[in-house]
Amino acid sequence: MSKILEIENLTVSFDGFKALNNLNFSMDSGELRVIIGPNGAGKTTFLDVITGKVQPTTGRVLFNGKNLKNIPEYKIARLGIGRKFQTPRVYLNLTVRENLDLVCNQNKNVFSTLFGRANTTEQRTVAGLLETIGLDAKANLLANLLSHGEKQRLEIGMLVAQSPDLLLVDEPAAGLTDEETENVGALLLSLAESHSIIAIEHDMEFVRQIANDQVTVLHQGSLLCEGTMSEVQQDPRVIEVYLGEAPE
Ligand code: ADP
Ligand code: MG
Repeated sequence: MSKILEIENLTVSFDGFKALNNLNFSMDSGELRVIIGPNGAGKTTFLDVITGKVQPTTGRVLFNGKNLKNIPEYKIARLGIGRKFQTPRVYLNLTVRENLDLVCNQNKNVFSTLFGRANTTEQRTVAGLLETIGLDAKANLLANLLSHGEKQRLEIGMLVAQSPDLLLVDEPAAGLTDEETENVGALLLSLAESHSIIAIEHDMEFVRQIANDQVTVLHQGSLLCEGTMSEVQQDPRVIEVYLGEAPE
């Protein structure tokens, strides 16, 4: 199996404080990897380095064997890394379908996307995406009227429309109801059949739902342990760092 991502001896210092500290990590193409860790462990910084928002102080990040050093964020996105931020970024005054149309037709202008007629391939792509994200019945609704969880799913759909090789999602279950959490989890599991995904997560129920493969535990910017969900849950070091955490 080829490695989609390899991270070697990665350190990121902010004024001497090491948000990531000599981190080593690798994942195979096609994996759904869940990364957990207490607040401040360095999870978001980890995604910031992969996407080029933050540069390594030392160490390197290889994506499909290519060193990402000094490549700007927008170029890394074009290389095939898509990132879903914690808060949904969708066009609230456009319908669900129009939001998807926009990303499916990025080479055309906005006007022709909204008022022109999409060709059959584009229509099929958008219809497929609507079904994947479970919003076909709400296709003509303004995004503004969606629940928080539905907006999360729409944004995930918009990312998938850009066919990234690697999909990064940061705490997709944050602020969701139990039912919405389950829907987002089911969506990630179905996308995992055809995508490589890194899901950063704090919510343990959600992790239990989606973590069929390897789970990586970060702590103080380093790798604490890796294994299946049941292995890491029983690891005394993991229990200690989670118990030591202040309640949210
Ligand atoms: P997590 O996502 O696991 O909660 P973060 O990656 O957001 O953790 O942060 C890791 C540590 O790095 C925290 O202690 C945070 O305060 C610090 N940190 C993150 N970004 C910056 C920054 N731009 N400047 C200074 N410190 C930062
Ligand atoms: Mg974070």
